[in-house]
Amino acid sequence: MNDQLAERRRVVVLGSTGSIGQSCLDVIAHLPDRLQAVGLSAHSRWRDLFDQARRHQPRWVAVTDPKVADQVDRRQLDPATEFLIGEDGIAKMVTDPDVDVVVTAIVGSAGLRGTWLALESGKTVAVANKETLVMAGPLVMALADQRGATVLPVDSEHSAIFQAMRSGHRHEVERVVLTASGGPFRGKSKKNLVHVGPEEALRHPTWRMGPKITVDSATLMNKALEVVEARWLFGLEPEQIEVVIHPESVVHSFVEFKDGSVLAQLSPPDMRLPIQYALTYPERLPGPARRIDWRQLGTWHFEEPDHETFPALQLGYEVARHGGTCGAVLNAANEAAVSRFLAGELPFLDIPRVCRAVLENHHYSPRPTLRELIEVDRRARREVARWQTTLIETTT
Ligand code: NAD
Ligand code: MG
Repeated sequence: MNDQLAERRRVVVLGSTGSIGQSCLDVIAHLPDRLQAVGLSAHSRWRDLFDQARRHQPRWVAVTDPKVADQVDRRQLDPATEFLIGEDGIAKMVTDPDVDVVVTAIVGSAGLRGTWLALESGKTVAVANKETLVMAGPLVMALADQRGATVLPVDSEHSAIFQAMRSGHRHEVERVVLTASGGPFRGKSKKNLVHVGPEEALRHPTWRMGPKITVDSATLMNKALEVVEARWLFGLEPEQIEVVIHPESVVHSFVEFKDGSVLAQLSPPDMRLPIQYALTYPERLPGPARRIDWRQLGTWHFEEPDHETFPALQLGYEVARHGGTCGAVLNAANEAAVSRFLAGELPFLDIPRVCRAVLENHHYSPRPTLRELIEVDRRARREVARWQTTLIETTT
């Protein structure tokens, strides 16, 4: 092996068929001397997974839905690529000593196990799967610490904060400000949102993402989850985290230092940039992400979030303050509620409502184990499944 090849980072992409997964493979394809995809996983879209395998020639592919794995036509896979199934397949890839970086791009709390095992093996983990940090942030960060693993953010806001923070010491940070596009319903009142369905909620103005996070952006639950994510990733107090609506999605967050200096990270809304930064960190290399054209930039806007119309955001602050089991409960209730909303079973405005109800009624524990968190996650989902809508036409 020559020197250049020896420097290539060997990357496992969990959830490679999703929006983040595809962007990640695009970054890898643009930096063939530096990055190599050695493992890929998909839940059910095995044909897309096999197409990716043809292009990237990984050592392994894993299909995580065992029912789908039975239907796969393995003859379509290059014999040099090993076919793996389920969580055991994920475990085999992320714990292999030859793997350098694991990208967690699985959606929802299903991403927890792969993230956990990768950290346990001391890997560098590029975390897109924010749900894992919301659910079990303190345990995840403690595990990384114990095992000498590195957690790098992929979420654009957290990548921006991470990048800006490099120009000072942690104790010099006064606060961070997370930007939010405001989603497709920015400027609407609750009255306007009583009857909105999946089609309208899935029409995001600036980002192209998977369906769950797109609905989270419409409720502002995504920003609530990101407040909790920032709390654990950077060890910030909830009072140090603010949210501002910035519809153009060019300023990806900013950090204010003790002396009043504010540093921001700017780029067009293109996830390939924060993904690449995590994959090549601490180096910066030319890559495929779109660049800012100053001649095309118009005016940027910054507004206070509308807490009345989007009560989900406040839930994020409450969860960041209380910690314990709250993150797992909010995350699971939201996942279950979004899936019922997408199935046409739950009105849009019921998403934050059911999340609050489940959160307020759960048995709080301040220092849960991972097993307890998995149990409260299950219970919260059951509660949401039982929830009957009591939607009253709102007049606000
Ligand atoms: P997506 O729906 O496009 O893709 C999800 C991926 O996860 C797919 O590869 C799918 O096969 C896999 N998957 C789904 N259910 C699974 C299960 N039960 N077990 C194993 N794998 C499963 O989602 P996305 O938009 O790419 O988001 C992925 C993660 O990244 C989410 O946690 C999201 O919050 C986060 N994120 C996404 C963006 C974005 O721009 N899309 C930005 C920031 C953070
Ligand atoms: Mg984000």
